[in-house]
Amino acid sequence: MDIQLSGIGMTSARTRDRLVQRLRETGIEDDRVLDTIRNTPRHFFIEEALAHQAYDDTALPIGHGQTISQPWVVARMTELLMDAGRRGKVLEIGTGCGYQTAVLAPFCDELYSVERIRPLQEQARKRLLRLGLAKVQLKHADGGFGWKSEAPFDGILAACARPDIPDDLLEQLADGGRLVMPVGDDRKQILTVVDREGDEFHTQSLDAVRFVPFQRGVMR
Ligand code: SAH
Repeated sequence: MDIQLSGIGMTSARTRDRLVQRLRETGIEDDRVLDTIRNTPRHFFIEEALAHQAYDDTALPIGHGQTISQPWVVARMTELLMDAGRRGKVLEIGTGCGYQTAVLAPFCDELYSVERIRPLQEQARKRLLRLGLAKVQLKHADGGFGWKSEAPFDGILAACARPDIPDDLLEQLADGGRLVMPVGDDRKQILTVVDREGDEFHTQSLDAVRFVPFQRGVMR
């Protein structure tokens, strides 16, 4: 790995270890997830001016009014999605800068990710290619409709919140599949897990979280 990706100073291995330690202390237990967080260069997904904060456990701006998710949230969602073991085919809604995408990639056979803001999607594509993650399929679209031609998915993860879970996403969940998504309005959201068994959907409401809104339509 080159120096830009491996990191120096505030992006070094020691700084990353401190983040992993903090995630452990705040309840992340899955070692595979923690190792992936340690090995994923978060500083590479944000502006250079913010790189010194890359391994703080906070969300940071990525432009267009959006944020890179907080590492704890990325770890927690990945852990929840992979709880029952590896997922074959996974759909992510809200690629953003591509950081969560890069963390998810090692855990699934096929990964599809949708983003509604074109410039973010294009930048994420370049970064994921640079990290050797060419296998991820990216689409500029409104993720509220899922990705019908590729359904069903063993896992669906949304990185943006709305008060209801779109029917299209539930329909595109495979039997035995799991969806993880923040549900709520702009003040209060709960990380929600839905497991599908045949035509039954079992819902669990877990942690209080804060995400950007799940919006409708696309932006060029
Ligand atoms: N995991 C991303 C989070 C980005 S923030 C990261 O770590 O960078 C959530 C993203 O969801 C934003 O980029 C926003 O544009 C996108 N988004 C919101 N509504 C969407 C929709 N309906 N379809 C696709 N993407 C959406």
